[in-house]
Amino acid sequence: MKILVDELKDYVGKEITFSGFVDAIRDKKWVMFVILRDNTGKLQMTIEKSEEKNQELLEIMANTTVESTVKVTGLLQENEAVKLGGMELIPSKIEITSKAEPLPFDFNNLDGVNIDTRMDFRWLDLRNEKNMLVRQIESCFIEAMRDFLYKNRFTEIHTPKLIGAASESGSSVFKVKYFDRDAFLAQSPQFYKQMAMAAGMNRIFEVAPCFRAENSNTNRHATEFTSFDLEFSYIDSYEDVMSLEEDLLIAGLTKVKEEYGERIKEVFGNEVIVPKKPFPRMRLQDLYQELHDRYGFDIPKEDIGDMNAEAEKLTFKLAQEKFDSEFMFVVDYAATKRPFYHMRDENGKLQGYDLIWRGTEITSGAQREHRYDELVKNAKEKGLGKDVEFYLQFFKYGCPPHGGFAIGVDRLTMLLTGLTIKETQFLFRGPNRLEP
Ligand code: ATP
Repeated sequence: MKILVDELKDYVGKEITFSGFVDAIRDKKWVMFVILRDNTGKLQMTIEKSEEKNQELLEIMANTTVESTVKVTGLLQENEAVKLGGMELIPSKIEITSKAEPLPFDFNNLDGVNIDTRMDFRWLDLRNEKNMLVRQIESCFIEAMRDFLYKNRFTEIHTPKLIGAASESGSSVFKVKYFDRDAFLAQSPQFYKQMAMAAGMNRIFEVAPCFRAENSNTNRHATEFTSFDLEFSYIDSYEDVMSLEEDLLIAGLTKVKEEYGERIKEVFGNEVIVPKKPFPRMRLQDLYQELHDRYGFDIPKEDIGDMNAEAEKLTFKLAQEKFDSEFMFVVDYAATKRPFYHMRDENGKLQGYDLIWRGTEITSGAQREHRYDELVKNAKEKGLGKDVEFYLQFFKYGCPPHGGFAIGVDRLTMLLTGLTIKETQFLFRGPNRLEP
């Protein structure tokens, strides 16, 4: 594999081959400086014009455009005067591996560039240092959460995304042609995570796409997003689920802070705060009351028993003011507003929660109903019939009590950086965006 810019310090004084993009060409009177770039940084290549042996190299570079890619062999030498890492590459051979046409916009300065143009040329937009950093931060966050789960003996699984019944919530499901019948794209791995519990897998997780035919243009909804989903068995209550989520997010944010805290502050102006356990919790009714008393907010009739975007925003304010926390667990949602597989207690109280971070819901979690008869009853109440029959079978032959949650990965990254979901996803998918 090629040497990365941030590994070059190990090669000073040596003959190396370095490949990368041509970031800039500075053609001076006596010397040509070529700045080379990869996803980890920049390197200066210096070509002295007075030297006879360099004439061929100068001609190659004179015919090269910025953003072309090159493969250079030469001596990496120390030079304190060079701002980029105190080193420079003195080439003896340059090969152009791909020549770039003039770019449709300057990705180094995205001010005023239309977001749709940026999306049309997303691979160029991603060359922007800030956008490159977003990818690295997200990868770091996921790595840390994965590591935490592996250490706690979770097994990573991969559930199907093509499913036979529009079972979870018929309204926002994508239908696709499947030979001579219809299939649907999975809105979440919920049923299959629970199948793994019925199989006795005990602790599982999955990081995978979810598809939702939501025809909304908010800055936090996409039609395809990545969900960090997990499920585990033999819990006593949804408190166990919340506790695990606290540990998981603390593990993720600790690593992100360690590795990218400074950069996130510098580039996005956001502080990475590692939360303390336990995160504050509030019952929905108490929350409504506080939002009313403090901010004069009343939840609209149609949202009673649930939250809406405004309530989530104010909840962040409240969490900071009252608990000095960026997080807030909200519990006691109305069972009518929640899926049939969330457990209710003997009084009908829902055994689930949402987690709000920086004013946006990032997670839904719950203890699940694992008792076949109760589940059948709940499904009937919601008017679900044939479509969930296959799922109900999972609970007939012994299934441990269990619970779990789903964290929206795009939302995590979005809230860490303060960007919109369009700018955050590797490649956004929305009602008007299926290309590239
Ligand atoms: P919202 O109320 O914000 O639409 P939801 O209640 O439909 O979310 P869940 O079905 O509970 O969301 O999904 C679990 C998590 O998946 C959410 O907390 C969120 O982080 C993420 N998520 C859900 N829908 C979307 C979407 N359309 N785009 C991006 N992330 C999403």
